[in-house]
Amino acid sequence: LPVSVPARIHQIDSALISRHALRVTSTLQQEGYNAFIVGGAVRDLLLGVAPKDFDVATDATPEQVQKLFRRARLIGRRFQIVHVPFGQEIIEVSTFRASLSTPAAPPALTNAALPARSGARARRGELDHHLHAIDASGRVLRDNLWGLQHEDAARRDFTINAMYYDPATQTVLDYHNGMADIRARLLRMIGDPATRYREDPVRMLRVVRFAAKLGFEIEEATGKPISSLAELLGNVPSARLFDETLKLLLCGQALDCLRQLRAAGLHDDLLPMLDAGLEQPQSEKFITLALHNTDERIRAGKYVSASFLFAALLWHEVREHWQKYKEANEYPIPALYRAMDETLYAQMKKLAIQRRHLGDMKEIWGLQPRLEKRGRNAFKLLEHPRFRAAYDFLLLRCESGELDPALAQWWTAFIAADSAQRETLLTEDG
Ligand code: ATP
Ligand code: MG
Repeated sequence: LPVSVPARIHQIDSALISRHALRVTSTLQQEGYNAFIVGGAVRDLLLGVAPKDFDVATDATPEQVQKLFRRARLIGRRFQIVHVPFGQEIIEVSTFRASLSTPAAPPALTNAALPARSGARARRGELDHHLHAIDASGRVLRDNLWGLQHEDAARRDFTINAMYYDPATQTVLDYHNGMADIRARLLRMIGDPATRYREDPVRMLRVVRFAAKLGFEIEEATGKPISSLAELLGNVPSARLFDETLKLLLCGQALDCLRQLRAAGLHDDLLPMLDAGLEQPQSEKFITLALHNTDERIRAGKYVSASFLFAALLWHEVREHWQKYKEANEYPIPALYRAMDETLYAQMKKLAIQRRHLGDMKEIWGLQPRLEKRGRNAFKLLEHPRFRAAYDFLLLRCESGELDPALAQWWTAFIAADSAQRETLLTEDG
């Protein structure tokens, strides 16, 4: 049974709650379903932080949810949910579900209708491979087995992510002592940590991300199995790894995340070239500056480009190959393009960077030798759609000591100058 925590104790500031999330829970409740704000949003509300997105959990099936909201869309196969869009905001609605690794429900409930106060609710699905499947390493491939709320709580990852908030009664339902862990600032896995990492190795990345982002400690038993299970990340589809890596890099504490990833031995399957980059002092400075800039922009609510980030993380590798080809007397530009392809090929075997980012990364890299020349081509470069990113990249190269800082100063002056001043800059020694 969950502990009910009243408003007087949890002190959630209702001004931080999205009105769209409230619309979704109240609509579902009016139809007789149970509905709660759940997961990360409740955690953030308890910490007094505005959640960046809201998830709703309900005992209505995805089809039942879809019928109540005109613009709702059913999405996902591995994990079926309903997206309810309101302008820019999307509320994610998921049906309570059970997991095979959590203690089974009483036999009487299995495959029977769940206790219901109204209509037909989500039924406990058959133990059928369409609903639930695991692979040889214990990884969960599909997870669409409807269940009771306490089962839904048990299949979530951390105690602090397994609380439910009912806006109508302003009560938090806490199934796994999440309130205590919020107060102690601890990340504690629900259930047996090793089993939970086997089911979904991405949880190892989530621990690191939340520890860095929230400034929480990792509870001992939760942290312990990670280094010995790190290699399981190799079984995760590389597109999902990309999404998770991006979340790590964009959480506002990227530097801390990467440090913790390396300490736990988790980076090998994400950014295999990171070690080489961080072991060379000048490149370490470059990466540190890039991540520091990113963190500052995220905290200031500014846009951060994923292509720029990955271009920065892999630059050391590109340069090494580039150098190798130039020393073998290849022309610099074809050598650079070969170096880029070689680097990306090695990286893509581990983690699939999306195609649209690859194009941008190559442009940022490819513009570098052109920016190193201060000639008439400067005018044309200014018009290039990737000029701004390439210029920012060049600034980092100068700041890290790879290039003469005068180059950065020249471009900064050129950008700010009027046309007469630009002509003067072009006639200076180039
Ligand atoms: P964020 O602030 O990054 O959005 P979050 O906790 O909300 O953090 P989501 O990925 O949005 O993370 O997931 C929402 C909720 O779903 C989590 O709080 C957790 O309860 C559950 N969850 C998400 N991913 C997993 C997972 N891999 N294993 C178990 N539970 C998960
Ligand atoms: Mg979330």
